Amino acid sequence: MSFEGLPKGSTDKRRSLLESMYLLEVVRGLGVTARHLLRNIFHTGDMPTMQYPEEKRVYGDRFRGRHRLMQREDGTPRCVACQMCSTYCPADCIYITAAEHPDPAIEKYPATFDIDLLRCVYCGLCEEACPCDAIRLDTGIYEIAADHRDKFIVDKEFLLRNTTDGTR
Ligand code: SF4
Ligand code: SF4
Repeated sequence: MSFEGLPKGSTDKRRSLLESMYLLEVVRGLGVTARHLLRNIFHTGDMPTMQYPEEKRVYGDRFRGRHRLMQREDGTPRCVACQMCSTYCPADCIYITAAEHPDPAIEKYPATFDIDLLRCVYCGLCEEACPCDAIRLDTGIYEIAADHRDKFIVDKEFLLRNTTDGTR
């Protein structure tokens, strides 16, 4: 095949008239699309994609998921605002405001407890550092989506509502 007339350095090859019109390629492409469409319609079980959100991926037992704050029997946070978790956090994404607890047996409680989920690296160090077992990463929740960065900063009430059944 001669490449005469092509720009210097070009890797393009001469095409046949039919190929130049792209008709054959368009028909071939439509054939591939139709083949996949029909296969997916009649063999939905073999589809490589998941029907999210109806179907959800099952992660391994070691997967942590989003954080949750543990509660006392009266529903208040078990956290005593000691700041150990925020001190150890390598991503510096835990923000706690400590306040005096009305019960003299408990020194402090977190007036605010926020975590920036976009900065978090889900390392679990906060869980390891906590002396009160007040924060855990065992919810298995991986759905973390929002339309604004501010919505990824979750507060105490949000963290107290998180459960281990993956519903929130
Ligand atoms: S999981 Fe790691 S990065 Fe995330 S808040 Fe806890 S210590 Fe910080
Ligand atoms: S979650 Fe645990 S480590 Fe963090 S401030 Fe509360 S008690 Fe301290």
